[in-house]
Amino acid sequence: MDNLSQNQPQTIQQEVYDVIIIGSGPAGLTAGLYTSRADLKTLLIAGLKWGGQLMLTTDVENFPGFPDGIMGPELMIAMRKQAEKYGTKIIDTNFSSADYTKRPFEVKTEDGKVYYSKSVIIATGADTKWLQIPGEQEHIGRGVSSCAPCDAAFFRNKKVIVVGGGDSAMEEASVLSKFASEITIAYRGESLRASEIMQKRVKENPKIKIMYNTELTEIVGDGKVVSVKMKSKVISDSLVAGRKNNEDVKLSPGEWGGEARNATGDVLEWDMPLDGVFVAIGHIPNSTLFGQIEKDEKGFMKRFEGSKTNIEGVFVAGDVHDYHYMQAVTAAGYGCEAALSAERWLEQQK
Ligand code: NDP
Repeated sequence: MDNLSQNQPQTIQQEVYDVIIIGSGPAGLTAGLYTSRADLKTLLIAGLKWGGQLMLTTDVENFPGFPDGIMGPELMIAMRKQAEKYGTKIIDTNFSSADYTKRPFEVKTEDGKVYYSKSVIIATGADTKWLQIPGEQEHIGRGVSSCAPCDAAFFRNKKVIVVGGGDSAMEEASVLSKFASEITIAYRGESLRASEIMQKRVKENPKIKIMYNTELTEIVGDGKVVSVKMKSKVISDSLVAGRKNNEDVKLSPGEWGGEARNATGDVLEWDMPLDGVFVAIGHIPNSTLFGQIEKDEKGFMKRFEGSKTNIEGVFVAGDVHDYHYMQAVTAAGYGCEAALSAERWLEQQK
């Protein structure tokens, strides 16, 4: 093939789909199951790495219908098979752009192909924001988590740290307090960003301590997490400020349950032995390729009247709009909602 023809998008699919779904996590695959069962001609653009966040998890114990739990990838393979069984055509390629000014919509993939559809459901999800420190990636699922509702039960009577100062961190700590024996929130600032009510709940919980001006620099383990290395901005005498038993405190590393390693000026480097690290520093919605869709200041897509976006005929489902719940089952629920909305909207267009 010469260079010119390689760069030209090839219009190989002249047929028009009723629905194109972009994304192959629980939201996208559930949407596909519903639209194809409704006899709508459905194409699902799955991405080169299909399946979303659950492909990165091990045991899933909170997806209804599996009393003994199920492995994340196993659940996604089953969802994919179920959508395909009823006629969803799935292509394992990356979405690149869409033109919503044209009817039918024109949807392009990274391999240069162009597809046409009367409606679109965006279900591209969100990625966890990780700390990007040594020891983090290799211990995900082995003591490092970003989902307390999913993993808290594995930390019964264990000692854990939650990183972050927003509502997610407060919620993760609250959920963990039902299982873990000791929870420390490590926050890099000194004035939590979380809402007052969420802060209050955490501050009044006797199992939860808050440590200010503290960042994790490394997660140490040998197959499972055993300790973290931290860096704190200290007050005089190497005391780290925080909150314990609902009172402001200034404690030494030993009193926090750790051990000092090195002190330079007002920066203290220290270690804390523990069993788990919950990273709750936010999510990054996969929304950058959707320039025409309205989003909030953090990039989460805005919904109008259920699953509708600002563009007529374009719907949204799952973590790409939902920063509150971010669960497989809620994403699946949103996928169902978007599919039913698309189906009704298509019916109205006839
Ligand atoms: P936020 O963006 O609100 O908070 C992220 C927190 O992580 C901040 O405290 C931030 O610190 C910290 N942080 C960010 N990057 C790093 C880093 N590299 N290292 C260390 N710390 C870091 O995200 P959330 O996920 O908490 O919340 C997102 C949205 O979801 C919010 O609107 C929230 O209200 C909502 N939400 C609501 C819930 C509820 O109502 N039940 C539950 C969960 C979330 P800093 O403050 O210094 O910037």
